[in-house]
Amino acid sequence: AGRAEVRSITVLGATGSIGESTMDLLRGAPERYRVEALTGNSNVQGLAKLAREFKPGFVAVADPARLNELRDALVGTGIACGAGESAIIEAAARPADWVMAAVSGAAGLKPALAAVDRGATVALANKECLVCAGDFFMQRAAQAGACILPADSEHNALFQALSSGNREELVRVIITASGGPFRTWAAADIEQATLAQALKHPNWSMGQKITIDSASMMNKGLEVIEASYLFALSPDEIDVLVHPQSIVHGMVEFSDRSVVAQLGAPDMRIPIAHCLGWPDRIAGPSARLDLAKIGTLTFEAPDFVRFPGLRLAYDSLRTGRGATTVYNAANEVAVAAFAAGQIRFGAIARLVEATLEHWTRSGNQAPLTSADDAIAIDHDARKTAAGLLPQIAAKAS
Ligand code: NAD
Ligand code: MG
Repeated sequence: AGRAEVRSITVLGATGSIGESTMDLLRGAPERYRVEALTGNSNVQGLAKLAREFKPGFVAVADPARLNELRDALVGTGIACGAGESAIIEAAARPADWVMAAVSGAAGLKPALAAVDRGATVALANKECLVCAGDFFMQRAAQAGACILPADSEHNALFQALSSGNREELVRVIITASGGPFRTWAAADIEQATLAQALKHPNWSMGQKITIDSASMMNKGLEVIEASYLFALSPDEIDVLVHPQSIVHGMVEFSDRSVVAQLGAPDMRIPIAHCLGWPDRIAGPSARLDLAKIGTLTFEAPDFVRFPGLRLAYDSLRTGRGATTVYNAANEVAVAAFAAGQIRFGAIARLVEATLEHWTRSGNQAPLTSADDAIAIDHDARKTAAGLLPQIAAKAS
């Protein structure tokens, strides 16, 4: 396949933060890409604007009540459209060479699997779907001959660094964390943090859910689990290192004690461009890294006491079976409850822990063998978390 070939592209979650970065890269080389399908959740006008610019064959919104609004917004374009979960899956199943999976949350699992099952190259930003489905997601990709490229910046860094050695030579991987807005805060202040404070990320501009996850370090927990499934690593082979400047994204230590790192400005267009160009490299629009200007890079050990979400991620990974599915589902419920003002910031991790404990006691822990298993555990865990919510909300820490 030559570089001159036009690639067909589908973007799931085109209206989000990762979607926006992806569309920006496509905009930079219109002769090289043809957009097959674009999807959004409820932002019909934003999606229609992208559709008019990129002229895909199909667009879909997840909200089934917005089909007429989408039709009206696309009048005269000849672009086919649909609404509801089935329409999002239909978009993913259409024959595109390269798919960006950037829906937020476990809602992205079925669409990502629809792209995986037809053997596409899938740039995976949606870590929750991998955490929800566990090993099973990667097995399905291997069966279908799909190529999963990590779009998450830390995992993309590891993917780049891992090619410096083989599996036997690998000692451990290190993923960095900015530490979020509460890195230096006392536990009592983190407990009471407001939504506005949680949404003030020091380095990255991202969607609301992942920004809250970064403040709780649940995002790093999800990423530890993501790294384990993506690269078949045990929890002991994955370390987290707090690095407030977010310049070094990931490192791999080899047996000779060489540590290979990937560096770049905190701009998601860099890892996405790597996925878009792979196995080649394309010209990226991001700012060049000026280390002399940055001057200092610092590193700290993570604090598992002030950020219990990180400890719970390792625990659930060690438990295995459906525990990471439960971890993710409970966190999604907790983040929504925090954003709605129903629970304190500190209660996010307490709800996840209580949901995991409930699941452990229930004894219903068969291994995941299908998407339906994962989705069933996800649904049960959401119900459990919702049921535990009032008592967690009432309990002061
Ligand atoms: P976002 O909230 O900005 O965008 C989410 C996208 O998914 C939107 O297009 C939205 O319309 C769509 N969506 C939401 N719910 C949906 C549903 N139920 N069905 C179908 N579509 C739905 O989020 P984001 O920051 O772009 O993050 C997307 C994913 O990428 C997340 O899994 C996140 O963890 C991951 N990620 C994001 C960043 C970042 O810098 N933003 C970095 C690494 C990984
Ligand atoms: Mg990340």
